[in-house]
Amino acid sequence: MSAAQKAALRLHVRTDEVGRLLRSGKLAGAVAASLRPGAAPAYCYWDKRPKIGIDAALEGAGYELLVKGGNKAKCPVCGHTAVNIDHKKRVCFCFKCEKGGHIGSLASQQGKRLA
Ligand SMILES: [Zn+2]
Repeated sequence: MSAAQKAALRLHVRTDEVGRLLRSGKLAGAVAASLRPGAAPAYCYWDKRPKIGIDAALEGAGYELLVKGGNKAKCPVCGHTAVNIDHKKRVCFCFKCEKGGHIGSLASQQGKRLA
């Protein structure tokens, strides 16, 4: 199977359309991203994973929110209530065990995408 056929399957378009979309340059990045195994770009019409919010993604990953929609949570790794949540950058970080990352990656580990 060629790369174009794989891209067509992932993007739900005809194989001959892949070349046109690539030449147009609009979807070049999206096609390249869609060819990575298990990867789906976060904001795409072909991404059928259910959307969840930041709070739901954190709770699904084991974080206990101290206040709903707040910026503090309890760490599932060390149990310390020093996890900072940045809603704008969509990241979280524990200041005790120094573990954290993008909340979108927590959502994708649960088979969902961040709304
Ligand atoms: Zn921690």
